[in-house]
Amino acid sequence: MAAKKFTVLIIPEGSHQVRRFNVRRSVLQWLAGVVMVMLLAVGLLSIDYFRTHLDRRDYARLKTENRSQQLELQRLTASLQDLQQEMVVLAQNDAKVRVLAQLSKPRTDTLAGIGGAPEEATGDHFSALQQQIDAVRQAIDLRRESQEEIQGFLNDQRSLLAAKPEGWPVKGWVTSSFGMRKSPFTGKPKMHEGLDIAARTGTTVAATADGIVSRAETVAGYGKLVVIDHGYGYKTYYAHNSQIFVKVGQRVKRGERISAVGNTGSSTGSHCHYEVRRNGVPVNPRKFL
Ligand SMILES: [Zn+2]
Repeated sequence: MAAKKFTVLIIPEGSHQVRRFNVRRSVLQWLAGVVMVMLLAVGLLSIDYFRTHLDRRDYARLKTENRSQQLELQRLTASLQDLQQEMVVLAQNDAKVRVLAQLSKPRTDTLAGIGGAPEEATGDHFSALQQQIDAVRQAIDLRRESQEEIQGFLNDQRSLLAAKPEGWPVKGWVTSSFGMRKSPFTGKPKMHEGLDIAARTGTTVAATADGIVSRAETVAGYGKLVVIDHGYGYKTYYAHNSQIFVKVGQRVKRGERISAVGNTGSSTGSHCHYEVRRNGVPVNPRKFL
C-alpha cells in the first residue's frame, strides 16, 4: 500500500447517509502500534496473574504443611519430655541400687535442668530439641556406665562368695578343735591349726569353695595333703587323706570331690584335718562351717 491517505466509509444500517473519513497512513500505523502494545500488556499481565495464582496455591499448601510440621514438632517435644521423665526415674532407681551395692554416687545428671522451648520460634525450638536429645543421650551413657559398674560389683561379690570357704569338707564329727591342745604325740601344749573331723577311711572329702588346687602331695606330718587356693587371700588344707583325686593347677568347684579320708602322716585315726588360712594365717574353720 503506497497510498498516503485512506478513506473510511461508515454506512449505518437502514440509512442512506454515508459518512466518510479521510485517515492518514501514519495515523493508521500509530493505531496499529497502540493495539500491539495493548495486546502485549494484556499478555504479560495474564502471565503474571497466573503465576501469582500458582504462588498463592503453593503458599497455602506450604502454610498447611508448616502447621502440621509444627504440630508434629510439638508432639516430638512432648514425647522427648516423657523420655526425660523416664530417664529421671531410671536415675533414681540406679541411685538406689548403688546405695544397696555401697558404690559411690554416679556423676550428677544435667537432665533435670533442661526445660521446654517457646512454641513459636522454630529455630530456637529445634536447637532446644537438639539439646534435649543430647541430654537424654548423656543420661543414657551415664546409666550404662553405672550398670556396668554395678554388674562388675555383683560379679566380684559372686566370685568372693564362691571363693569364701563354707560348710563341711567331710560328713563326720569333730574330734579336735582349732587352738592350743596337748599334742597327742609329745604330750606338750601345741597349737592345732585346724579342725579334725573323724570319718571312715574312704569317705569323700569335698572342696569347701571354688578354687585352684595349689598342692596335691605327701608331706611329713600332713600325710597326703590337698591345698586349694580360692583367691581373695583364702586357702584351705585337707590332710591325712588315703587318696587324692585332683592335680595341681586343677580348677575345682565347691562340693567337688578332691580326696578320700585316711590316716596318712601324723595321725592317730582316720580323720580329715581341715585348715582355713586367710592371707597365710590359720583361722578357726568353725567360722566357715
Ligand atoms: Zn588336725
